[in-house]
Amino acid sequence: MNNMIDLLVIGAGPAGLMTAKTAAEAGLKVILIEKNKSFTQLRRACSAQFILDDGYENEFIKIADGKILFTKNKFEVKYSGALVDVTNKYYHSPKDHIIHFAHPGQRAFALKFDKRKLLDDLCKECEALGVDVRLSTLASGGSDRGDHVSINLKNENNVYTVNAKKVVIAEGANAHVTGIFGLNKNRTLFATAHVLKYILEGISGIEPNSWNLFYGKAYHSNSPVIIGPSLYGDKTFELTISGSETLRPESIYENVTKNSPLKNLFANANLIDKQGCAVKAFSSLKVPYSGNVITIGDSAAFVEVEVQGALMCGYHAANAIHEELQGKNGFEQYTCWWKESFEFNRDDYLLVSQGYALVPTYSDDEIDYLFSLVEGRTLEGTYSQYKTPKLMWDSILLNKEQIQRERPLIYEKIEKMNTMTLTATFNS
Ligand SMILES: Cc1cc2nc3c(=O)[nH]c(=O)nc-3n(C[C@H](O)[C@H](O)[C@H](O)COP(=O)(O)OP(=O)(O)OC[C@H]3O[C@@H](n4cnc5c(N)ncnc54)[C@H](O)[C@@H]3O)c2cc1C
Repeated sequence: MNNMIDLLVIGAGPAGLMTAKTAAEAGLKVILIEKNKSFTQLRRACSAQFILDDGYENEFIKIADGKILFTKNKFEVKYSGALVDVTNKYYHSPKDHIIHFAHPGQRAFALKFDKRKLLDDLCKECEALGVDVRLSTLASGGSDRGDHVSINLKNENNVYTVNAKKVVIAEGANAHVTGIFGLNKNRTLFATAHVLKYILEGISGIEPNSWNLFYGKAYHSNSPVIIGPSLYGDKTFELTISGSETLRPESIYENVTKNSPLKNLFANANLIDKQGCAVKAFSSLKVPYSGNVITIGDSAAFVEVEVQGALMCGYHAANAIHEELQGKNGFEQYTCWWKESFEFNRDDYLLVSQGYALVPTYSDDEIDYLFSLVEGRTLEGTYSQYKTPKLMWDSILLNKEQIQRERPLIYEKIEKMNTMTLTATFNS
C-alpha cells in the first residue's frame, strides 16, 4: 500500500510526544495528531508538579542542567522552563487541625513546572526529527486490518484516512479511541470527575511553596479542595476543585470562596485564569494492546500516570513499536514494564480507597478528631496519592485503642473501611 507510514500517534500530551520523538530518533516514519491547535493555549487542568519521591513509579528522577533524568529507565527529556520547589504538604480538617508532610531540611518533594513549555519544546524536537505533526486534527475512528491500521481523521477542512503499520493511542484519561478498538470492554468506569483550576492572586494565609488539601463537607465537596503554588507570578496560587456532572465545580467554588472556613482567605482575591477538564476514572488496563494498536499513558491508567509516568510510557511504547516492526514481541515487553511500574496495576491497589474515603465516610467532626490525633508530628514528605493516605492512616492507627475507647463509632467505620471496594467509596 502506498502512503503507509510506520506509526501513527494519537494525542500530543507528554505520552504521545515522547512516543513520536523516540520513534523518530529510531528512524521510523511517524505522524502525530493532536485535536488542539497549540500547546501555548493548553486549557486542560493539570497541577504540573514533578514528583521527586524515590522509587515513585519504579523510577528515581532527577532534574538538573535543563534535563529531566530518568535514572532507572535510562533516558532524559529536555526541560529548561521555570521550576518552583514544593516543600510542605498540609492536610487541613474543617476546624484546621493539620497533618504535615515534609522531608527533613525542607528538601522539596515535588517541583512545579511549566507544562506548556515542556510540551511545546518536545513538539519542536519532534518536528526537527521529521515527525509529521498535525495539530487541530481529531482521530474519530478506525479499524485494525490485520497487516495495518486505518484511522479516520478530521480537521477543519477535511475528513480523511491514514494507514499505519502500528498505532499508539495516547489520548488521555477519557479513552474514547481506546474504546473504539475494544480495549475498554473489561474496564470498570468508577466515576467522571469535573475539575476546575482557578489561578488567583491576593489569596491570604497560604504559605508559599506549600500544597494544601482541605477535607470535609465544610468545603462543599467529597474531594479535597486544593491550594498550591502557581507559576503566574509572586503571590499567585492555584485553587483546584473537583466535582461531578451534578455537583458542578463552579458551584463548589462559589461556596468555598463565600461560605466556608476558607472564605476570609479569598476576601481580596482576583481571578487571573481558569482551566478545566472532565476525567473518567477507569480501572487500569492490565493488557493495554490488541493486534497492531497499543494504548498508553492516562488512556490505559487508573485515572493518571502523571506527566513523568506519561513520558516513560511514551519512551517504552516507541521502543516496543520498533521491536514489533522487527517481528519481535515489543508489546508484551511493554506490558511487563507497565504492570511493574505503576502502583495502580498491583492487586492491592484498592487500598487507595482509604485515601478517597475520608469524605463522606467521616463527618467533619470526625475528621477534626482524626487529624488532631496526628497533629504536631511531621510525616514523611511525599506527593504520592497512594503513599500519602497510607502514611496518614498508619499514623492515625497508632492511636487505635484510644479511638476505640473515645470514639467507638469512628472505630467501627475504620474497621469497615478496610473491606470497602473502590466503587463503594466513590458511590457512598
Ligand atoms: C487536575 C489535574 C491535576 C494534575 N496534576 C498533576 C501534577 O501535579 N503532576 C503530574 O505529573 N501530573 C498531573 N496530572 C496528571 C497529568 O496531567 C496526566 O497524567 C498526563 O498529562 C497524562 O499524559 P497523557 O499524554 O497520557 O495524556 P494527556 O496529557 O491527557 O494528553 C492527551 C492528548 O491527546 C489529545 N487527544 C485526545 N483525544 C484525541 C483524539 N481523538 N484525536 C486527537 N487528539 C486527541 C488531547 O487533546 C491531549 O492533548 C494532573 C491531572 C489533572 C486532571
